[in-house]
Amino acid sequence: MNDSTYDYVVIGGAQAGLSMAFHLKKMNKNFLILDGGNEVGGSWLSRWDSLKLFTSTEYNHLPGLKFDAPKGHYPSKIEVANYFKTYVAKFDLPVRLNTLITAVKKTEEGFHVIHKDGTIAAQNVIVATGPFHIPYTPPCHTKISSDTLQMHSNNYKSTSQLQDGDALVVGGGDSGYQILNEISKDSSRTVYFSGDTNVRSIPQQILGKTIWWWFTLVGFLSYSKYSWIGKRLNSSTQPVIGTDVKEILSRKNVIPVGRTKDALKETLFFESQNISTIKNIVWATGYRPNFKWIEGLELDANGYPKNYRGVSNITGLYFIGLPWMHTRGSATLGGVSKDASYLASEISKVND
Ligand SMILES: Cc1cc2nc3c(=O)[nH]c(=O)nc-3n(C[C@H](O)[C@H](O)[C@H](O)COP(=O)(O)OP(=O)(O)OC[C@H]3O[C@@H](n4cnc5c(N)ncnc54)[C@H](O)[C@@H]3O)c2cc1C
Repeated sequence: MNDSTYDYVVIGGAQAGLSMAFHLKKMNKNFLILDGGNEVGGSWLSRWDSLKLFTSTEYNHLPGLKFDAPKGHYPSKIEVANYFKTYVAKFDLPVRLNTLITAVKKTEEGFHVIHKDGTIAAQNVIVATGPFHIPYTPPCHTKISSDTLQMHSNNYKSTSQLQDGDALVVGGGDSGYQILNEISKDSSRTVYFSGDTNVRSIPQQILGKTIWWWFTLVGFLSYSKYSWIGKRLNSSTQPVIGTDVKEILSRKNVIPVGRTKDALKETLFFESQNISTIKNIVWATGYRPNFKWIEGLELDANGYPKNYRGVSNITGLYFIGLPWMHTRGSATLGGVSKDASYLASEISKVND
């Protein structure tokens, strides 16, 4: 053991972890935030260069410090990272970077939080490692020729990474459509698209108000996942926000090909045709959760920890920032505050 025992260790120092840290500081707890990255805001900075948030300033505030930008502004990833850095400085939050946690073990006294250089003891642990862990790529990617450049959307930064020739974007969510939009702006490149072309897309502004203003008005972001309407929202396909799907799909150089079925060397087999000219592939095919490093944790059918609003089945172990942890807003910048505030009140009851 190379550290004293903390009341709380927070694993993950992005929006979810920082929101909890804000409350721990207010409660005068002895705590430490651990993050595997080498920079505060790293999870945002690692996303593609042209990323603009789909939530405008007024929906990006963490507890205690407003996002400093004009109302209606859609920040870049750098602005988000800078906001986190200011947040850490303002509340003097103790963040230890370059500390990837590889295991959490329950002990008689609390927990052992293990990283490659040692073990940290804590009475309680709050896991804030984000909603997205292991990039998922369909198994057929291993059959594709090594001459074809392949990357997950997690590693996509800009079109400058691509080699000459046709491209393929797989995945019809927000990321897939945003990347398809960017790559197909160069009309000299044919870009195949494998994914749902029948998705609902919602513009960022309706009648002069942001979509989040409307979502807030109708309560879309605050339905509990345990309510009837919350269950329906949770199980329905999410619309694509702020990307004009129809316009992108109408571009002459964008060719929808249906689902990707298989691949063999240069040839990819799609629902509608087989193509052998693809030189670049971006897999915007989502992520799988990874909580296997937490000993004794019960997972649900989707691989997420069983919990009620962040309180897990292991005494002293908490979660924050999981997708739909309580509402649609749980894994968003503006929504994590409510969950953090609830969890803080639960924590204060336990330790009173
Ligand atoms: C492309 C994209 C665009 C998005 N746009 C928006 C938007 O416009 N508005 C919005 O509100 N939301 C948006 N989101 C959703 C959400 O706000 C982000 O995913 C956000 O990054 C989640 O924050 P988080 O703190 O829960 O986790 P993350 O940002 O994923 O951060 C987790 C932190 O934990 C650290 N970590 C992970 N594992 C370990 C470990 N084992 N040990 C130590 N440290 C660890 C990581 O280094 C990281 O710093 C977007 C998501 C994506 C993927």
